[in-house]
Amino acid sequence: MDSQFITLAAGCSEFRHSLHRKPELSGTEFSTREALIAELKALGFEPQTFSNHQGIVALWPGKDPSAGCVALRADMDALPLREESGLAWASQTPGVMHACGHDGHMAILLGVARWLSQRGERHARGVKLVFQPSEETGNGAPKMIADGILENPKVEAMFGLHGWPELPAGTVAVPDKAAMAGVDNFTLTLRGRGGHGAMPHLTRDPIAAAAALILAAQTLVSRKTSPLDPVVVTFGSISAGEAPNIIPETCTLRGTIRTFDPAVRSSLLADFETLIRNTSAAHGVTPELGWLDACPPTMNDPNMAVLARNAASEALGSQNLRTSNPSMGGEDFAFFLEKVPGAYFWLGLGMDRGPLHNPRFDFNDETLAAGIAVFAGIIANYCKSA
Ligand SMILES: [Zn+2]
Ligand SMILES: [Zn+2]
Repeated sequence: MDSQFITLAAGCSEFRHSLHRKPELSGTEFSTREALIAELKALGFEPQTFSNHQGIVALWPGKDPSAGCVALRADMDALPLREESGLAWASQTPGVMHACGHDGHMAILLGVARWLSQRGERHARGVKLVFQPSEETGNGAPKMIADGILENPKVEAMFGLHGWPELPAGTVAVPDKAAMAGVDNFTLTLRGRGGHGAMPHLTRDPIAAAAALILAAQTLVSRKTSPLDPVVVTFGSISAGEAPNIIPETCTLRGTIRTFDPAVRSSLLADFETLIRNTSAAHGVTPELGWLDACPPTMNDPNMAVLARNAASEALGSQNLRTSNPSMGGEDFAFFLEKVPGAYFWLGLGMDRGPLHNPRFDFNDETLAAGIAVFAGIIANYCKSA
């Protein structure tokens, strides 16, 4: 790898540690925004901010101001988790932690800003650096799109990365099509008729209905969906009742459905609703279903995936390219990729610091240089092809 990226990364790791000490939950990334703005201004950028979220857009103009630009994105938020890493730069905010490595993503994008500013060169296309809040809650990207960040200058292609512990440190994997799953979260309340636990025939038991529904829902995966289409139906929460001898009035279930293919998604959701209606009717309870936090699958553009893969191969050597299956996790970068072609890829971190969302997780500083180098290569390759 080019030594300039290793030098850049050394400075960026200190910045990452400062972000790691002060993690902020989705929607409250105020001091994170302040720290990024100070760094970007010092580099000569004029960062744009917004009134309804903590996102930042910093444009490095291209040679032709009327031409489009390429956008690179880093997410900013942390998680509600008590850090147990024992590191010198561990979170100083109890119960909040950068356990998904978004501090590393921001440090990499700041590294790209430093690289652009130090070289001082204008490219054929502009480069838009997008720092996005509220990824973990899935609503940061839609807010930034609504604010028009994909226009003026028009974003023609967009790229994002995520640190990935399952891949060896410093490697990169770029899926050709689906990278992350579509997410449909739901809350379902089954309303029955409460009564004495010893006289169930006088009641309409929502717990028995819920039990039947949870088991039947697994057949949506095993009997209704092709074995070649990956889907997940998970009930993550169930709550009902206060006492052993009282049949409650209601039972509330919460869960998540994950899919990749839009057609599979719509038929699965329709089948799920039919199953709820019919199971509820059989048990004499009334269902109230609410869909929340929907996020489409993160779909890479095959040409942009090739571009990102070439950039990674040039920057890191082809021996550091990996293939990887898509993840059933969700990612609101999907909303950007619905609007513009682009690619989302994984930067291998190695497993030394545990899996994502773990209380002992930490971003691997040794991979920051690779992240900066691949983004820089994407800019160069995109400007060549545009
Ligand atoms: Zn996460
Ligand atoms: Zn994440």
